[in-house]
Amino acid sequence: MPDSSWLEITTAIGCPNTCACCPQDVLLAAYRGPRLMTLESFVMILDKIPNGLRIDFSGFSEPFANPSCRKMILSADKRGHPIAVYTTLVGATPGDVDAIAGIPFVEFKIHVQDRNGVCRFATGEDYRLVLARALDVIPCAGLISVGGPPDPQLCIGQDYVTYPTQSRSANVYPVQEKAGRVRCERPAYRQNVVLPNLDVFLCCMDYGLEARIGSLATQRWDQLDRRGYDICRRCERSTVDNTPLPGTPPAVAKGQKP
Ligand code: SF4
Ligand code: SF4
Repeated sequence: MPDSSWLEITTAIGCPNTCACCPQDVLLAAYRGPRLMTLESFVMILDKIPNGLRIDFSGFSEPFANPSCRKMILSADKRGHPIAVYTTLVGATPGDVDAIAGIPFVEFKIHVQDRNGVCRFATGEDYRLVLARALDVIPCAGLISVGGPPDPQLCIGQDYVTYPTQSRSANVYPVQEKAGRVRCERPAYRQNVVLPNLDVFLCCMDYGLEARIGSLATQRWDQLDRRGYDICRRCERSTVDNTPLPGTPPAVAKGQKP
């Protein structure tokens, strides 16, 4: 089975974009620590994770909101990590795009603003030049949008994928909690998010920072406390699974012989 583990890097706290589908206010209220990840911290992270672990530049913010993002991507590539990038390109420069163009990205998804007004970014001439450059020089670059099809002026002739908005474990809007034992559709809770203060959280739903699984300041990747947490009960990506655990006798109803 292919390894589906990865570490998402949140390079900055406080995304420059203000998407209606994204609970940035919840994150800002919960977070304590430096707003920008330093290059030194990023190298410390690389020292704590296994060789070959996939690194995603995504997490809870636009990765290029951090001016060191280009250097972080190049450092991770130099160490041989497979790399995915999820970006709006807001904050990226043509020089950033050219510097990373030769990297064999696993994915390079560009989130463009949508025609429904769910996600609104600065989209001036400078932005359009960077967008055109990325689509030109990064072979796997592709467009995505959230909450509606892309703004037609930004995706002329391009294929795209549109995702629905989601509650992000009730961090965007309330949802009914699931009762019983829930299971994540992703295997083994090994798709985690690290913040600039090096705290690691269960996954990219956890904008409220409820499920802290450890810190890469003091622990290594394999020492993190991965398991289901209460936020999983409020997540679109979990299912209720009350099948008995291996070695557990089946439940016997009252008055019934086992
Ligand atoms: S959805 Fe992405 S780009 Fe939009 S505010 Fe959230 S982190 Fe930023
Ligand atoms: S069920 Fe949802 S909140 Fe829990 S680990 Fe999976 S994706 Fe994250």
